Amino acid sequence: MRKPRIVVLGAGYGGLMTVTRLQKLLSVNEAEIILINKNEYHYETTWLHEASAGTLHHDRVRYEIKNVINPSKVEFIQATIEKVNPEEKKVILENGEVEYDYLVISLGSDSETFGIKGLDKYAFAITNVNAARQIREHIEYQFATYNTEVEKDEKRLSIVIGGAGFTGIEFLGELTNRIPELCEEYDIDRKKVRITCVEASPMVLPQFDRDLVNYAISLLESKGVEFHIGTAVQEANAEGVLIGKRGEEPHEVKAGTIIWSAGVRGNSIIEKSGFENMRGRVKVNNDLRIPGYDDIFVIGDCSLIINEAIDRPYPPTAQIAMQHGEVCARNVAKLVQGKSPLEDFVFDDKGTVCSLGEDDAIGVVFGKKIKGTKASVMKKVIDNRALFMVGGPSLVMKKGKFKLL
Ligand code: FAD
Ligand code: NAD
Repeated sequence: MRKPRIVVLGAGYGGLMTVTRLQKLLSVNEAEIILINKNEYHYETTWLHEASAGTLHHDRVRYEIKNVINPSKVEFIQATIEKVNPEEKKVILENGEVEYDYLVISLGSDSETFGIKGLDKYAFAITNVNAARQIREHIEYQFATYNTEVEKDEKRLSIVIGGAGFTGIEFLGELTNRIPELCEEYDIDRKKVRITCVEASPMVLPQFDRDLVNYAISLLESKGVEFHIGTAVQEANAEGVLIGKRGEEPHEVKAGTIIWSAGVRGNSIIEKSGFENMRGRVKVNNDLRIPGYDDIFVIGDCSLIINEAIDRPYPPTAQIAMQHGEVCARNVAKLVQGKSPLEDFVFDDKGTVCSLGEDDAIGVVFGKKIKGTKASVMKKVIDNRALFMVGGPSLVMKKGKFKLL
């Protein structure tokens, strides 16, 4: 009899957790497991702000997928997925197709531009290793070019960050540490560099209490960041951005670099495959399957589950994607083994830490507020834990962060 085929799409947090758990839960005779991912490597999305600012080399944020999967149980296919055809139970790849009996979609997110004019063309988003490398190179090029021009173009030294959510704030933390190094390297007066952060909502990081947020803002301001809160980016163009408060005429901030960090939507493959969705995220059942499709699980940033306590969706985070992966693996194994009932996903909130550069952070962990060095150490513990969960101690030794103090 043919073994059931499990196909996992995406080797991010959700996908790798699913596969590394499945390879332990199922024997070679029980199922065929296939993992499909665009690159031969996994990247820690949660470290990409560091690679983008240039404070951590991009090779430090990625590792080879083959190092964490068991080749006798999992076949890895490096390919770009184009869409899923659920009626024919097929995944369409750029260069072929793969049939499945059970499918796990864990393809992460795309940057959300809300249709704002010019963002696609003029702004960068911190989305993957290629983007991070390009952002780092672009900023460095602006600094390197500045002193070579007879007529100095001040906008080369102006960087705008659109969105002061977690990604925007964490990037600012790294960038403000990197700028003095760039100034020294390229003989540029630090006072000439302008860093502007534009946040549409009246509050930065509403998840945290004001004491922590004020700590973060004061620190970043002391390092030269100019915040425009309650002000939206309305357009990006070759000169910079147009920003404005509601009901006011927008004004221009000239910039040679625009970083767009104003939120995410589910991977476009979800829409291309025709699944019902809200901003690219599929509202899944508690067992993580798509309503009406008993053989398809959607996890991580592509999925949407309502947090009943506040009647709002859980945010797309790595912490949740990894917990999805664990539940998803157990549920897929149950289906393969003909066991029931499937397990419901229940979020175990371990807290959140927002870094402010290598040595500083704010956070709430196990219900306790922390900031400064203590929070920064905790952030590195969280980063190392993610490596440990997928690849055990050897991966932590290879890729972990050990500068704790
Ligand atoms: P991902 O981990 O993004 O993985 C998706 C995978 O699918 C990737 O390997 C990608 O290459 C692959 N893929 C995508 N499209 C295709 C295709 N068409 N074909 C083939 N392969 C494809 N969350 C936290 O909990 N804590 C944090 O500290 C934190 N920090 C963050 C910092 C930054 C800068 C950013 C951008 C996000 C951060 N997040 C954090 C959010 C977190 O990274 C995401 O929620 C998490 O990565 C989602 O996991 P995932 O498995 O759904 O997708
Ligand atoms: P986000 O949705 O958390 O924040 C985006 C911010 O951009 C919001 O504050 C929003 O008001 C603002 N914004 C939207 N439109 C704007 C406009 N036109 N002009 C100016 N500002 C605008 O998105 P994110 O920061 O990209 O994070 C994505 C996900 O990743 C979230 O779920 C977040 O929790 C998670 N994340 C977590 C961490 C962490 O835990 N340390 C770090 C990074 C990201």
